[in-house]
Amino acid sequence: LIRCREVRKSFNGVEVLRGVCLDVARGEVVCIIGPSGSGKSTLLRCINGLARIDGGSIHVDGLDVHDPATDRLALRRKVGMVFQQYNLFPHKTVLKNIMMAPLHVLREPRAEVEARARALIAKVRLQGKEDAYPGELSGGQQQRVAIARSLAMRPEVMLFDEVTAALDPETVSEVLVTIRELAAEGMTCVLVTHEMGFAREVADHVYFTDAGLIVEHAPAADFFNRPHDPRTQAFLAKVL
Ligand code: ATP
Ligand code: MG
Repeated sequence: LIRCREVRKSFNGVEVLRGVCLDVARGEVVCIIGPSGSGKSTLLRCINGLARIDGGSIHVDGLDVHDPATDRLALRRKVGMVFQQYNLFPHKTVLKNIMMAPLHVLREPRAEVEARARALIAKVRLQGKEDAYPGELSGGQQQRVAIARSLAMRPEVMLFDEVTAALDPETVSEVLVTIRELAAEGMTCVLVTHEMGFAREVADHVYFTDAGLIVEHAPAADFFNRPHDPRTQAFLAKVL
């Protein structure tokens, strides 16, 4: 579903992605882990077209993300992304936040959009919070609204960039439960995470990045039990 080949990206002459290759099959859960500054967020932003690439190619479901001729809307529909900061609209209710993009970007019928939004609210276990404003919710609840909002576009793949990193420890697990359920339903997921236990449990494949390169990738069990590269071994020794 996602194919990255020799992806290169520089900021101000500094190369932060130095030839990254990554494959994600439909229905697969891939975790990207690695030290701070190694290019994980940049890679996700390149996959959904938020950042331009300077070399290589990225395809999502056959669409060339960085070909100017590619339909941006088609791409936006296929790829959902959730960030560490939830970026909800503070003056809109939970229900309205979730309905906004399908209504105004896809121009789908209101009744249909609302029914789907309500179903998604139930899915992320926020029944009763339809009319609440983001400021009235906990961080974990807001993050689940952000996930529901992204799912409202019915994406083919969800990208998660450290979505639990800013949360209080007691709300982290609520968000992980939501992601685990999505994965179990067959949603293709790419997760950048520092939650090693979670990565080990949900990931089919793990990619380890260091200084703009993929230094190792393997099925999750192999990755955690038998890391090959010294950089991976050193990293895991620190975080596990
Ligand atoms: P973290 O684990 O801390 O989130 P990361 O692996 O996600 O790190 P990136 O955010 O992708 O790392 O950043 C990779 C490098 O690119 C860093 O050196 C960062 O300073 C630089 N960088 C990222 N975004 C920009 C930008 N918009 N302009 C300039 N430099 C940037
Ligand atoms: Mg990051």
